[in-house]
Amino acid sequence: MAFCKLQNRCCGDRPRTATARGYGYKRTALSSVRLDHSGRLIVGSIGALRGSGAKIHTAWAKRAIRKLFPQIGDFDLDYAWHGSIGMTDTHLPKFHRLEPQVLSISGYNGRGIAAGTVFGYLLAQLIMGEISEGGMLLPVTTIRVRRRCLKVHFVCTGIY
Ligand SMILES: Cc1cc2nc3c(=O)[nH]c(=O)nc-3n(C[C@H](O)[C@H](O)[C@H](O)COP(=O)(O)OP(=O)(O)OC[C@H]3O[C@@H](n4cnc5c(N)ncnc54)[C@H](O)[C@@H]3O)c2cc1C
Repeated sequence: MAFCKLQNRCCGDRPRTATARGYGYKRTALSSVRLDHSGRLIVGSIGALRGSGAKIHTAWAKRAIRKLFPQIGDFDLDYAWHGSIGMTDTHLPKFHRLEPQVLSISGYNGRGIAAGTVFGYLLAQLIMGEISEGGMLLPVTTIRVRRRCLKVHFVCTGIY
């Protein structure tokens, strides 16, 4: 699933209190808002910034910011990016044993920065023999490849 982030630099202190910790909120699709360390307001949502998606998602981000922070005044979104997020059918990461000595954790559903670090630590412990497979917090599952082309195209273009 594609996920995009758009940011501005010129929001001053006004939305700082509301977004000091950042949060994700659920509309039709998961979205996120936070301030980074240098004070840039960063808004994210499902979608890719290519083709018509760039205009659609930029317009949505501006609307979302104005709705959340009506006091914001004039602002520009001066940087944006998107990437692919691994989504799973259970909305949980997957633990695979690809070969007897090849282990894999994937599918963080867009929440892998902290979880990836935790599971990387657990994988290292498993390899070192410090924990058993049962200590991995996830069952070993077999890999299933499913056809998702149509759904991916729909989500990339925009669902707003
Ligand atoms: C737009 C977007 C927004 C996101 N927002 C959030 C968020 O707000 N919070 C959150 O928790 N997660 C977020 N995520 C998800 C998060 O970025 C990932 O879950 C996390 O980065 C996964 O970490 P990783 O170390 O497993 O993989 P990665 O961070 O992808 O690291 C894999 C590394 O391996 C390298 N690599 C790949 N193939 C090879 C090769 N053959 N040889 C050598 N090196 C290779 C890559 O270059 C890369 O540096 C977001 C993802 C996207 C795309």
